[in-house]
Amino acid sequence: MQPYDTPMRSSILIIYTGGTIGMKTDAATGALVPFDFSGIYEEFPSLKRLNVDIDVHTISPVIDSSNVSPENWMTLARLIRDNYARYDGFVVLHGTDTMSYTASALSFMLENLAKPVVFTGSQIPIGVLRTDGRENLITAIEIAGARIDGRPEVPEVSLYFQNRLFRANRTTKRSAEALSAFRSYNYPPLAEVGVNITYNLPAIHRPEEYPAELRIASRLSGGIALIKLFPGLDAQILRAMLAAPGLRAVVLETFGAGNAPTCEEFIRVLEEAIARGILLLNITQCGAGRVSMELYDTGLRLQRIGVLCGYDMTTEAAVTKLMYVLGLGLDREKTVDLLRLPLRGEFTA
Ligand code: ASP
Repeated sequence: MQPYDTPMRSSILIIYTGGTIGMKTDAATGALVPFDFSGIYEEFPSLKRLNVDIDVHTISPVIDSSNVSPENWMTLARLIRDNYARYDGFVVLHGTDTMSYTASALSFMLENLAKPVVFTGSQIPIGVLRTDGRENLITAIEIAGARIDGRPEVPEVSLYFQNRLFRANRTTKRSAEALSAFRSYNYPPLAEVGVNITYNLPAIHRPEEYPAELRIASRLSGGIALIKLFPGLDAQILRAMLAAPGLRAVVLETFGAGNAPTCEEFIRVLEEAIARGILLLNITQCGAGRVSMELYDTGLRLQRIGVLCGYDMTTEAAVTKLMYVLGLGLDREKTVDLLRLPLRGEFTA
């Protein structure tokens, strides 16, 4: 038993997958070499002052996140499931390039999650003097271990970067340069970090139950494509894309509030694809805002032929949600029902 007035210690598993955050400058050569996170306490002695016990697991081999695949997401989900009972929270260190994809995928795959899984990374290697990685890492650990009324403060998959904690499946990498690289245009931050960490309690999802075991997705579907419309997209080329063997579903990035050309040929190509059983999910190519297909005739046409509304979902959430939902192997009606529902707070209808 802990003494009454001592805050409970949390145990955190850091999972290092690769990316810039895990590099340091070799003192002898000046080249970037991998940082060994198992020596985390020696590198950051101030971590000992946090009320957490930390273990580190390094995925082998570590990868640049441009090489990440759904197989890596399965490995990550299994690792979190297998360690779920032993830890109060998880921090996943990931390359920034595809972090929003991995974090969105995990948000769907960890089906009954009731503990924090905080993704973070950095734009500057952790072993470089001006790094943003040190603060990102230390604050992510603190958030993963934070509790309110004996329960985890943020029991969902989140992404921490540059003073803000976001719901992971609302994020998108928006800058290859700025230290504030991620945005969540359509959902407020779950926490803002200044002198104190201020949690936005109404925005944080709280599960009804805190099960001891984590259930995860057993497979993710292939056969997903992403098509971004542009004026002048040739209907024949679109037809060829939609005829790709094995295609099951397409995220259609449309204009503005979910609009697309109304010319007969274009609509016919989409109709033919839907008739062949291909699911079309409409999201906007604008970062902020939502699809409202009933607003203009150009959106209404899509709605009438059976294109599904993706509301204010990010591309990352739409792609990974399709992989997850189609991977469940349900019949078409149930699949469509799940696509119409926000499963993990990924859109606001
Ligand atoms: N290319 C790196 C990656 O995504 C970039 C980074 O970590 O920021 O793995």
